[in-house]
Amino acid sequence: MPMMLSDADPTLVEELVAANRILFDQGVVDGFGHVSVRHDKHPDRYILSRSMAPALVTAADLIEFNLDSSPVSDQRQGYLERFIHGEIFRARPDVMCVIHSHSPSVIPFGIVEDVPLRPVFHMSGFLGLGAPIFEIRDIVGPGSDMLIRDRNLGIGLAKVLGAGGAVLMRGHGSTVVGQTLRQTVYRAVYAEVNARLQAEALRLGKVNYLTAEEAAAASAMNDSTLNRAWDLWKTKALAAH
Ligand code: MN
Repeated sequence: MPMMLSDADPTLVEELVAANRILFDQGVVDGFGHVSVRHDKHPDRYILSRSMAPALVTAADLIEFNLDSSPVSDQRQGYLERFIHGEIFRARPDVMCVIHSHSPSVIPFGIVEDVPLRPVFHMSGFLGLGAPIFEIRDIVGPGSDMLIRDRNLGIGLAKVLGAGGAVLMRGHGSTVVGQTLRQTVYRAVYAEVNARLQAEALRLGKVNYLTAEEAAAASAMNDSTLNRAWDLWKTKALAAH
């Protein structure tokens, strides 16, 4: 039998499993990508699946990691890119959930330098004045496999994320963070939707983005209503798989 999670809140574990299913069902992750939560009783640990497709994750697949991204007590293979999670949780005590994906509509905004991903509608106010872009070449030069495969790269990514809610990874994907698991799932879904809409708008002409004030107000508003989306997404995802 796999190791059990020491003393994590069973509701948190159940929600993390649901988040894996939702992110697949909503087109944020496919065979790749991952979602973690900070441990509710040990803030210096996080919970993340073993290396497998998110849609297939069950509670038995979850592993507890310390912030160095070493398993607390587990022999199973973790994701190569788990350092994304460990170093963001270390750098951002306010962050309770981290989602890394290669969601397709966001990718162009990571490779075109002068068109930042910015909120085009109220649902993505969390993007503020735009998501920064992490350039892996700044850390390891031009020959990497693009993956955040060690602590040093995770630290570099966390630095570019800064105090924000999302960071794009040039030629790779993106990572979103939040103060709750549900909020972070919401952000991952709407980062993808916003990217799709922004690309469509840019084809039409000059885009009128939300102001910083509109983005902040809309973001606060959405945080108060996102359970409505969560309930829908969870019901649909669990029925589908
Ligand atoms: Mn990746």
